[in-house]
Amino acid sequence: MSLRFEHVGKRYPDGTIALGDVSFEVPPGQFCVILGRSGAGKSTLLRCVNGLASPSSGRVVVDGVEVTPATLRQLRPRIGMIHQSFNLVPRASVAANVIAGALPAVSTGRALLGLFPRALRDKACALIADVGLGQEHLPRRVAALSGGQQQRVGIARAFMLDPAYVLADEPVASLDPQTSADILTLIRREAKERGAAVLCSLHQIDLTMRFADRVLALRDGRIVFDGAPDALAQSR
Ligand code: ADP
Ligand code: ADP
Repeated sequence: MSLRFEHVGKRYPDGTIALGDVSFEVPPGQFCVILGRSGAGKSTLLRCVNGLASPSSGRVVVDGVEVTPATLRQLRPRIGMIHQSFNLVPRASVAANVIAGALPAVSTGRALLGLFPRALRDKACALIADVGLGQEHLPRRVAALSGGQQQRVGIARAFMLDPAYVLADEPVASLDPQTSADILTLIRREAKERGAAVLCSLHQIDLTMRFADRVLALRDGRIVFDGAPDALAQSR
């Protein structure tokens, strides 16, 4: 079981080369930070895992299955996603947004909680408590929450299907430093408790040093460092 990049290259149709020759393997349970400046290729790398981008060369293999349009349906439930701008449905309730993590096809816009199966509601409630939101938040519209609270909802949603892998694309880019640390603590804790591996992109070296088990530093689409955070400090 692992998430593996084998010589992955990505060239966009306009000719931009976003990834060079990227190879690495992430074992279960590892908190792996993809570190790099804006434009380094972090989003492209993550998008090659969930099928939003397809490699121009090489391949991405998740638990022995290559990511292709044909295997995406099978792989999607194993991969949770946390986004920079949360990607929640603002007018829908906290509970409906979390349940949506288990029902990607269901529009949550107008759905009433009572329409969802009991097991899903119970799971969502438990996760919402895990991420530190009180039960009073369940019926509230996401739009009424702070950014940090919204990202807590995003984290709960990502774990609805007990994914083996969680992709987090700059999950704290829009949050203040204290909230950023709280959110990364939470993602790390939830993943560790469940044995999920995390691929988390960041541009802040201080947060990387604090939270990563392993750092993959990207520059111009290439890995310029792969190792433990303390080795990264020594290499600079
Ligand atoms: P920075 O301004 O952070 O030094 P760079 O463009 O030099 O940015 O590098 C991009 C990312 O790759 C950085 O976040 C940096 O941490 C990492 N990096 C660059 N060079 C090295 C290196 N020799 N060893 C380890 N990490 C590196
Ligand atoms: P990061 O997430 O590290 O900011 P990206 O993966 O978004 O990096 O971008 C890597 C490079 O690919 C950048 O030069 C960016 O401008 C380019 N790029 C990203 N998406 C596209 C796209 N859809 N079409 C063309 N170029 C793109």
